[in-house]
Amino acid sequence: MNSRRQFLQKLGISALALQFAPKVWASPAAKNIKVSDGKVLRVAIMGLGSYGTRVAEAMQSCTRAKLVGLISGTPSKIKAWQSKYGIADKNCYNYENFDQIKNNPDIDAVYVITPNALHHDEVIRVAKAGKHVICEKPMAINPQEAQEMIDACNKAGVKLLVGYRMHFEPHTLEVIRMRKAGELGKIRFFQGLSGFTMGGDPNQWRLNKALSGGGSMMDIGIYSVNGSRYMVGEDPTWVTAQETKTDTVKFKEGIDETIQFQMGFPSGVVASCLSTYNMNSLDRFFLDGEKGYAEMYPATNYGPIQGRTNKGELNQPITIHQAVQMDEMAAIIFDGKQPEVPVDGYEALKDLKIVAAIYEAARTGKKVEIAI
Ligand code: NAD
Repeated sequence: MNSRRQFLQKLGISALALQFAPKVWASPAAKNIKVSDGKVLRVAIMGLGSYGTRVAEAMQSCTRAKLVGLISGTPSKIKAWQSKYGIADKNCYNYENFDQIKNNPDIDAVYVITPNALHHDEVIRVAKAGKHVICEKPMAINPQEAQEMIDACNKAGVKLLVGYRMHFEPHTLEVIRMRKAGELGKIRFFQGLSGFTMGGDPNQWRLNKALSGGGSMMDIGIYSVNGSRYMVGEDPTWVTAQETKTDTVKFKEGIDETIQFQMGFPSGVVASCLSTYNMNSLDRFFLDGEKGYAEMYPATNYGPIQGRTNKGELNQPITIHQAVQMDEMAAIIFDGKQPEVPVDGYEALKDLKIVAAIYEAARTGKKVEIAI
């Protein structure tokens, strides 16, 4: 059975309907979604900003996850979201009182979607409240914080998952399948290009190191770091890196504008990557093997993801990434399902170790060994 058929069947679409099924999975109205027989993951979103808004919208298409709670410092946003999504007053919190969520039996998990530097304390507070945690990328701003978050969740006996939506994306999974099946031959090279032109308010948190933990590497370059690992199927053992900055007013000390970095992997694969806040439409992965290649462009944006290999265009279903992610996370939390590519805290810790090594290599000009 091909993966498109499997995917549509996962959505509950019958064999007859499959004959007429469009390539695009259009988002049906939430009321038409068939709720799964499995236990539904009841989620509170913390941080009602731009990505939180996207996740909430996407969750209207979920079959196993449901938005039931809100955590925000802005009462007017809470009111608007309550009426839009039908959220009960008793499931709404602010940043001062959300520890009380421990007394709320109607919330299973909190999805932390706030500025990067806040994730550490917020995740630990959620863990102490006894709720499962889903945290946005980058999970933390350095490996030490990431380790503390993992430890806190382990101690509390709750799951810690990270919003790595690409780990559930069908084109991405097909390339991984091809690589694992040997269809590309022995892998030799990966290229990852991740960037966009940063515009907008010069005072936004992404340009403030205290809240972001860094610049383009933390925000967008991490897609090439993480992508290199799932495309190659190994973790790098060394990095070299070079930083360039054209605008020292916009990108202050500690906020990297552009970093080129190279990585070496145990099998001898080499990677060449670019992370930037100063170039448009950079969202491309290229994986080269002795028997074939795969190119993804766009590789990580909200889609539609497109890709081709030496065998032709990839034709997997187009999905709403955040909806699939949340349904899959329900299965990970409740059924112990093992995803094809992990989305746990250890996965995020690896990425943060690599990012720290890239920053060190850019600062020192030296090749930095990574122990993962
Ligand atoms: P945003 O600025 O749009 O939203 C951030 C939210 O956090 C806002 O509602 C803001 O009010 C709230 N907040 C709480 N405390 C704050 C404080 N002290 N300072 C500033 N804001 C505070 O940002 P965003 O784009 O939604 O990003 C949030 C997180 O989601 C980041 O970690 C980012 O990396 C991640 N993200 C992930 C994806 C993805 O595709 N997985 C995409 C975008 C953003």
